This record gives sequence, C-alpha cells and structure tokens, in this order.
Amino acid sequence: MERLPELVGGALCLDVANSVDGRVLEVPLDYLATYADLVDWAMRAGGVSAAEAGELLTRADADPEAARDELIRARTLRESVFALFYGHATDGVADAGHVAAVQEAYTDALRHGRLAPGAAGLRWTWEPDLRLPRWLVAQSAIELATSASLGRVKACASQDGCQYLFVDTSKNGSRRWCSMTDCGNQAKSKRLTARRRADRTGAR
Ligand SMILES: [Zn+2]
Repeated sequence: MERLPELVGGALCLDVANSVDGRVLEVPLDYLATYADLVDWAMRAGGVSAAEAGELLTRADADPEAARDELIRARTLRESVFALFYGHATDGVADAGHVAAVQEAYTDALRHGRLAPGAAGLRWTWEPDLRLPRWLVAQSAIELATSASLGRVKACASQDGCQYLFVDTSKNGSRRWCSMTDCGNQAKSKRLTARRRADRTGAR
C-alpha cells in the first residue's frame, strides 16, 4: 500500500482538500480513488469514528453505484473547498462559484442533521448516510471560513506545486510549509546546497 501523506491541515476540510497531490501537474495524484478511500481519509482526519466508518463501508458495499456517485460529489465539493481557501490564502478572495458550492453543500448538511444528546449536552449529528463525509467537510469549511482562523489559512510555499493548505497556528504566523519533513526540508536542503556551492566557489 502506498504511503499516505501526513495530515497537516489542522481542520478536517483542509485535510480533505489535501487529498490531491500536484493539482498543477498534468496528472495529479488523487488519493480518493474509491468511496472506501474517502471514508478512510475522513476517519484519519478525525471526521468520522471507526464505528461510523464501518457503517458507511457496509452501506457502500450494499450499493456500490450510489457510493461511486457520492465519491464524485464529494470530490467536487473537495475541489470547491480547495479553491475557496486557496483563493483566499493567495489572493485574499475566493471564487464566487466555489463559495456557492460550499454553501450549497452546507445547507444540504443542515437539512439532514439533527440535534441529539452528546457527551456534553447536545450536538449536531447525522444518521449514517453515504453523504456523511461530504456533510462533515461542508460543516468544517463553513466553520473555518467564518472563524478568526481564516486569515491563518495558508498554502504551502513549496515551489514544486505542493499547494497543501494548512492553518498556521505558530505564534508569530511564520509557518511556510505543509510539513518540515516534506516540503520544508526540501526547500531547506536546496538553500543549503546553494550556499555550500557559493562557499566553495568563494561567491557571496
Ligand atoms: Zn508542501
């Protein structure tokens, strides 16, 4: 099994948006190839519990066609979520069409949710449904977009087209890369190599 990327987003919607590598490339790598991948990703990102994931997979097995259709809708929402936050992080504005798509997904989620007793009072919840991952992503996106953290959403500064999104929670807001062990070190090692070469040739 291929190694899945680290979850670096700091919010469910960003972690799901980061399930594509290399959107700028001709053939991006999409980690959500099947509905099961979507469920697995949502579980890793803390969106659904193991019990909910099991329930979703059972439903997907019972109706593979519906699961495939839902995967396509979830991927479409994912691209709108990505575009919304990437646009905001890089240009300070988000494309109206993508904003509308996220809003639409959220109103759909609200229509199907209900208030239920939770560990601490009441919580907003959904019955197990193939659409659950999409609803959770929409809820997370609206929460993040309307929070003070929106200004802290950044895209990875890597020059190789990473574009991973994350909430910069560093004290001075200086985080630049999705992950130091990944893009950060690559950039760092490139800088170091350039400096060493400069040292050797006596250049400054
Ligand atoms: Zn990166």
